[in-house]
Amino acid sequence: MTRASLNDLPLRDDLRGRQPYGAPQLDVNVRLNVNENSYAVPESVALAIVEAVAAQVRTLNRYPDREFTALREKLAKYLNAGLDDEHRLTADNIWAANGSNEVLQQIVQAFGGHDRTALGFVPSYSMHPIISQGISTRWMAVDRDADFQVDREDAVRAVTELQPDVVFLCTPNNPSGTALDLATIEAIYDVAPGIVIVDEAYAEFSRSGTRSALTLLPGRERLIVSRTMSKAFSLAGARVGYLAADPAVTDAIRLVRLPYHLSALTQAAAGAALDHSDELLGNVEALKAQRDRIVQTLPRFGVRPFPSDSNFVLFGGLSDAHTVWQRLLDRGILIRDVGIPGHLRVNAGTEAETSAFLDALGEILGETP
Ligand code: PMP
Repeated sequence: MTRASLNDLPLRDDLRGRQPYGAPQLDVNVRLNVNENSYAVPESVALAIVEAVAAQVRTLNRYPDREFTALREKLAKYLNAGLDDEHRLTADNIWAANGSNEVLQQIVQAFGGHDRTALGFVPSYSMHPIISQGISTRWMAVDRDADFQVDREDAVRAVTELQPDVVFLCTPNNPSGTALDLATIEAIYDVAPGIVIVDEAYAEFSRSGTRSALTLLPGRERLIVSRTMSKAFSLAGARVGYLAADPAVTDAIRLVRLPYHLSALTQAAAGAALDHSDELLGNVEALKAQRDRIVQTLPRFGVRPFPSDSNFVLFGGLSDAHTVWQRLLDRGILIRDVGIPGHLRVNAGTEAETSAFLDALGEILGETP
């Protein structure tokens, strides 16, 4: 059968010429390119998840709990463990979906759309514009400074001037790993006319002393904090993301969500994982140590790492980043070319994976770690 091309289809004009998002998925020994958690789900937790999922299988003839109430309660409990009493959340503050990408998409469906705009501080997570444009929301990009930080005054000026319906803030920021201080988030919220999303996908990897934007939620009904189980929880394959916000926000999202969007299997797996969150999060400290080791080691190779509060490190100062990326891949080490000239991004892996990366990079750049 002959194959048609996109040009043969009545595709939306604003999607013509676009490329689908996606990093290479290659079968190599050391995969440090998509900010996953290198540690597998511990056996005891895996068994608990299997049991919880198995218990659902016989009743798959029925639709799942559309409100995923048990899961929302467990997510609230998990977040509350890191919050003071004055910031306590209940299930009414929580919403979940198939990965935080879907959470972000649902937010833009409810608050963006035709004739509306979304703004982000770039470079940042490239799905923010893709999600926005997918919902016909005009994207506006404001540059970060040379160190990939968001300057408070510049940000306030940009939001005041551009009046976006949705603002994306990413902290720690992907791809730079840099964190935003709460005073900047507050200042942006104060001048933003619409929704402010704080994408905290990597929050659990923050260095001590970094406070979550969850503490800003009381009294700010237009603020939304999104999180994921893909990173610290080692559950990228399960596709579970969530948000915390005023209950009115979750009511708004109910207007756009597809009914039963979270399968009974997903709800059961995520719930069982949350019952074992201490064990699942057990490797976060080890990953942070490897992240810090990368930041400390890279300057010896003559490259410049950016300070990171996440499970990855962006480094610059390469004369030909793509060739370095390819030579690492030739050695079975996959990292990320994020498209910033002279820069590459690498995940903190296990100690052995991180050593393999550092040894190989040292060799390629003609230095020893
Ligand atoms: N936000 C940020 C900043 C990310 O880097 C990612 C994943 N790369 C996501 C959201 C989406 O993650 P998921 O859909 O797996 O929850």
